[in-house]
Amino acid sequence: MKDIERLINPHILNMAPYSSARDDFKGEAEVYLDANESWFEGEVKCNRYPDPECVEVRKLLESVLSLPFEKTVLGNGSDEIIDLLIRIFCEYGKDSIMIMRPTYGAYKVFAATNNIEVVNVPLTPSLELDMDAIKSAIDKDKPKLVFICTPNNPTGKVYPLSQIEEIAKYNSAITVIDEAYADFAPNFESAVSLIDKYPRLCVMRTLSKAWGIAGARVGILVANEYIKSTVVKVKPPYNVSVLAQRAAKLVLSNPESVYSVRDEVLSDRERLQCEIAKLPFVREIIPSEANFLAVRVLDADELYKYLMERGIIVRNRTKEPFLDGVLRITIGSKIENEKLMEALLGYSK
Ligand SMILES: *Cc1c(COP(=O)(O)O)cnc(C)c1O
Repeated sequence: MKDIERLINPHILNMAPYSSARDDFKGEAEVYLDANESWFEGEVKCNRYPDPECVEVRKLLESVLSLPFEKTVLGNGSDEIIDLLIRIFCEYGKDSIMIMRPTYGAYKVFAATNNIEVVNVPLTPSLELDMDAIKSAIDKDKPKLVFICTPNNPTGKVYPLSQIEEIAKYNSAITVIDEAYADFAPNFESAVSLIDKYPRLCVMRTLSKAWGIAGARVGILVANEYIKSTVVKVKPPYNVSVLAQRAAKLVLSNPESVYSVRDEVLSDRERLQCEIAKLPFVREIIPSEANFLAVRVLDADELYKYLMERGIIVRNRTKEPFLDGVLRITIGSKIENEKLMEALLGYSK
């Protein structure tokens, strides 16, 4: 574990964890008078503090998603996990993280709030990982965390697991694989399988996308036990609420309905892709393995505004590197997709 220890901020390494009432007593009892909670349950039934370790949710994550129980820790969305990892490994005002743009925007925001530099290694023009550039930037800039998003947001591209492994092997710091859209990629090869071989590699998942509970805020880190226990030490003890854990248990106990919505999204994605590709103002649709399409059009700003005026909001990514003219469109319900197509057919350029 020395290999991980040397990467952790010394003040984190040396701090004593907060011990909550739920940490001090772990068994089952008849009368709980240890946490200054209200005895009154009421209608919403969340008068008690949540389980800091989210044991029941993590058991379900193991049985349903094959995420090993001992290696998981939950966050208030995976956004909280990103922030925690930066705070654990990066020294304020001194260290850096690496990202490969265009990618998810939150990495650089959490870097900024923690006064951490961002090293950007752009994707290649065909939106693949630039392996040589990544390796030389690792050598030169020595980032503490290398974030790789696959399937990538906003391109929808999956990077080969062999490339993920190559980077994890090369990087002597921490490699974080953000698999928020994994559920949408058929035959997806998760980097979770690499954690035992590369203990400095971590994987993030979320219940916000395919699992349908973005509003509940449940994100997952899968990591080597030492990294995991450091995150447990640093995270606010009650970061995943009773209501969020209840929502997570509900959806994970009924995965069939989640899978059927997911399958519908996948078939609608194929259908929408065919229909949108025929439109005269569409230059390209980037092949996506997520629940959105990145569509390159003649004038993204104009189309964005046109759709907005018709009550349809998409994401304008035209200012991102290599994404000139690109709108990112989430696959919606049948009715929503129909409204989108109707509007697109009415737009001519
Ligand atoms: C949506 C998204 C997340 C956010 O997940 P939360 O669990 O809702 O915080 C993380 N990573 C990527 C790439 C995303 O697109």
